Amino acid sequence: MPNARASSICRNCNDNQHLSRNHVISCFNLHAFLNVPYVVPDPISFVLNSPPTKRPTPNSNKRYWKYIWS
Ligand SMILES: [Zn+2]
Repeated sequence: MPNARASSICRNCNDNQHLSRNHVISCFNLHAFLNVPYVVPDPISFVLNSPPTKRPTPNSNKRYWKYIWS
């Protein structure tokens, strides 16, 4: 991970080796979890860079919640 220390321990498998992005992808089986094809080398960036699947929230809903929480 970008800000992980070299001595970080994986919470999934307690591996005390260098906690890398590739280890997290394989250890948590992120391709299956995020429903990304296995040919994609980095499923985290693939999901974050993909376009949104839902339409944006209407402005009336935003105004309603802004009014409720203010
Ligand atoms: Zn692990």
